[in-house]
Amino acid sequence: MTDIAELLARRERLFGPDVPTFYKNPVHLVRGEGAWLWDADGRRYVDAYNNVAHVGHAHPWVVGAIAQQAAALNTHSRYLHEGVLEYGERLIATFGNRLDTFLMVCTGSEANDVALRMARAMTGKCGFIATDNTYHGNTALVSQLNARKPPIGGRGQNVRLVPAPDKLRDGREFARHVARAIDSFEEEGHGFAALILDPYFANEGFPTLPKGYLDPMASIVRRAGGLVIADEVQPGFGRLGSHFWGHQRAGLAPDIVTMGKPMGNGYPLAGVVARREVMEAFRKGFGYFNTFGASPVAAAAGMAVLEVLADERLEENARTIGQYLLDGMRTIEHAQIAEIRGAGLFIGMELADAPQGMSGGDLAARVVDAMREAGVLMGRTGRMGQVLKIRPPMVLNREQADLLLERLGDVFAEIHG
Ligand code: PMP
Repeated sequence: MTDIAELLARRERLFGPDVPTFYKNPVHLVRGEGAWLWDADGRRYVDAYNNVAHVGHAHPWVVGAIAQQAAALNTHSRYLHEGVLEYGERLIATFGNRLDTFLMVCTGSEANDVALRMARAMTGKCGFIATDNTYHGNTALVSQLNARKPPIGGRGQNVRLVPAPDKLRDGREFARHVARAIDSFEEEGHGFAALILDPYFANEGFPTLPKGYLDPMASIVRRAGGLVIADEVQPGFGRLGSHFWGHQRAGLAPDIVTMGKPMGNGYPLAGVVARREVMEAFRKGFGYFNTFGASPVAAAAGMAVLEVLADERLEENARTIGQYLLDGMRTIEHAQIAEIRGAGLFIGMELADAPQGMSGGDLAARVVDAMREAGVLMGRTGRMGQVLKIRPPMVLNREQADLLLERLGDVFAEIHG
């Protein structure tokens, strides 16, 4: 048996306090394959949470591509390399709406930082709008948008948070909040540069929204001369089953798209795709370069992910297994289950507060920890942490889905009392 307490103490000595882990009883993982994970004691888990290992943990095609390129050349982005160009060309072919230029970075935070600065370069203005329960990353600029932990020293006057759609199911009302924020920027002299949102609102519990919800917001942003940035770090790369990108599913035409997590299947690869005039304004304005950003190995990892997604028809798998999970979850009975929703392999179960008992957030926390003990790793999200979050590698299979459903049914039956 590994000593979890000893590892935690060693970690705190080394990293300092408040470094988060998943689960009350943290998991010490040593190996993964597909959507299976093993801990140091040889215990096997279904991974129902990790979107980083998008095409499966340790996928041999991705591992091989990384190893082969690393054995040949890995170097600075200021040299020419065909693999980098081939990857970028294949990636931008998944977009429409004149989104046809590409920039490679290493993390989602960096991608969003670049996107905000692109909007500044394009508009000459500096007002940013984000939704009020989101997370877009941890650079000095991007952390200004964090709803839950505002930056030390407070949020800048050029940043406004508007109520996220989990609070407002009416798209016109959402747009009115955006219009008010834009007006206040103009009054205070900041001007309006961009609105950034996750088109699936992953960190906001991915509420089910009516078709065309974002249309009134988009026309207000355009009329004001601002840009729309879609953060695809969570919904991108086919996860939703119906569309390769979340903004396509939402019917939104962004000017800039950012992506990360699943992009390199664990290799630190992230990116920004933008309309040509936006990219040109940024390149001229900032003289940007990123040492590791566009390396040959990063491109090899990214290309291998796109290849596996196509070869193994993983969008189709997301659709069928996702639907299977939704159907199975809908047979689970518990008084606090309020809604089961999602698209592809991005599924949530919203838990309501009990009239005289546990809050939805507390129940979700109990379920997530009980599921970990039962051998299934999942998470929770939403404003009060009240939405169980299932976002597994895209290769989750029927056996793993059955295991998840069986254990989830057991856990809810037990918590019933
Ligand atoms: N955007 C969203 C929507 C995210 O959820 C995250 C990370 N969870 C990020 C950006 C930041 O990505 P990274 O951790 O790679 O910097």
